[in-house]
Amino acid sequence: MWSNVLYIDLETGEHKIRDRSDLFDKYIGGTGVATQLLLEECPPHTDPLSPEAPIIFSIGPLTPIFPCVSKAVAMFKSPQTGELGESYAGGRLAMAMRFAGYDSIVIKGRAPKPSYLSIHDEEVKCKDATSIWNVSSIEVIGKILRDVEPGKGRRSIMRIGEAGVKGVSYANVNVDTYRHFGRLGLGAVFGSKNLKAIVISGTEEVEIPDMDAYKNMYKKLYEAVVDTEVMNKYHDLGTAANINVLNQLKGLPTKNLKQSSFENAESLSGEYFADNLLLRKIACSNCPIGCIHIAMLKTPFHKGHEFEVNHISYDYELIYSLGTNLGITLAEDVLRLIDRCERYGLDVMSTGGVLAWATEAYERDLITPPDTLGIALRWGDTDNYLKIIDRIVKMPNKFYETLAKGTAAASAEYGGEDFAINLGRLEIAGYHTGPASIVGQLVGVRHSHLDNGGYSIDQKAASQQLTEEQMVDKLIYEDYGRNINNSLIACLFARGVYSEDNIVDALASVGINKTKDELATIGREIFLAKYRFKKQEGFDLGDVKVPARFFETVSQMGNIKKETIANMIQLYREKTGV
Ligand code: SF4
Repeated sequence: MWSNVLYIDLETGEHKIRDRSDLFDKYIGGTGVATQLLLEECPPHTDPLSPEAPIIFSIGPLTPIFPCVSKAVAMFKSPQTGELGESYAGGRLAMAMRFAGYDSIVIKGRAPKPSYLSIHDEEVKCKDATSIWNVSSIEVIGKILRDVEPGKGRRSIMRIGEAGVKGVSYANVNVDTYRHFGRLGLGAVFGSKNLKAIVISGTEEVEIPDMDAYKNMYKKLYEAVVDTEVMNKYHDLGTAANINVLNQLKGLPTKNLKQSSFENAESLSGEYFADNLLLRKIACSNCPIGCIHIAMLKTPFHKGHEFEVNHISYDYELIYSLGTNLGITLAEDVLRLIDRCERYGLDVMSTGGVLAWATEAYERDLITPPDTLGIALRWGDTDNYLKIIDRIVKMPNKFYETLAKGTAAASAEYGGEDFAINLGRLEIAGYHTGPASIVGQLVGVRHSHLDNGGYSIDQKAASQQLTEEQMVDKLIYEDYGRNINNSLIACLFARGVYSEDNIVDALASVGINKTKDELATIGREIFLAKYRFKKQEGFDLGDVKVPARFFETVSQMGNIKKETIANMIQLYREKTGV
């Protein structure tokens, strides 16, 4: 039904559009199609920062015609892990791609000079970005492009900041100010292509084959989203509500996971943010929830003078990574650190992990003042953390160049691998809940807590006494099944609404007929295709390492045993064949 792929060569500025119904019919859209395009377009062992490395964006067949089907996926080879790069962003991008008439976009080559892509319906241009190339603030770049580009209202603007331009391995791509392709370094891939930004808009209509069937299904899903309790949490306190919960459970990584609870958690809690700093909530396009919490941070220009007011989005992962994990005690300080990362276009979760590792390495004299250029690293020292963030982006010496590659690279160079808190070379999400969280992030195709939700399996295991095999079975079920949600692409916060039955019915209402069994098979095929790419690039699940710290610090389920993790990985490999 929709199957247009826009191919762009930045080297020549040329583009072509191809009908790829061969892929969309078989793999639905979103991550299913993007994975196949990655396998087609990325030759084995391609340098992720070379012109040959592709960037692929995809949306799905329900974009944006059902509630919360608001995400676009980016696939690429990650400069941070050296293997599969897969990242999701909300905002307006998915909607803009649909209205422009493109279900996927494939970008290759390197522009001869700083450029940005301007895509408005069938008009596709590679424009000069020399004047904004060195503008370091993501916010300012967005303001400039909003003024000079058309398409307001049906438009999305992606851009990188200085971190992407400089090639920090965990630079992100900002989407419509408050959303991101956050993880795995897509920003550095943009920078390597001399690509500062992409603006996309369109005026196409979305044709629905059977309007009655569609309307009925829309009503059912909309009511599930707004009239039930399934998504209340996300609108109310948002994911920041997890701070107090995980703190009580001993699942909240604190001070580089030296602790799993934080004595000052209350002052960083979702409740504190909501009562004292929350300004408003906003939503991705076609989402009635609005889980994006925006805080207001007032900073005096000078003692006794007026305030500058910044609007900063926050959620659980950001508060953990730049808050509890660094021993920060003031919510306002967490916002200052988030704001600095946002301006540069840095992945907040990886930045927090890197700062936490560096603080402990400094405590243990693995790194010294000559390395840090005289800046002391101390838990809770916001001002010095801000200085370190500046230097990670500017890279004034070898130490900061290494920090800009992540904790795995930094600990390989300076030591401290036992407390370099990464899984699969990616700094972890904020859950020290038990074995399923660790195994889930190790085996997950993008090493994300969102691949299979291992943290929530731990919570079930704690209350229902699940065996290792039962936990592995649940991880595999999620690993396969989420590929279908991510092919639509529905927001994972709405996965309680997009049940297997509802997905079958929603697809049928727009003329795509797949049974539950067929979808299960497709989900598994997508998973295996991703592992094909990972193995091709050298990832070996038989050779993964878990830093000792994970076993030393008590979790929600007590101390985790090495044998448990080894057994679960072995079971996972036998059952999936990867
Ligand atoms: S729930 Fe939040 S992240 Fe998901 S689509 Fe809605 S606003 Fe976006």
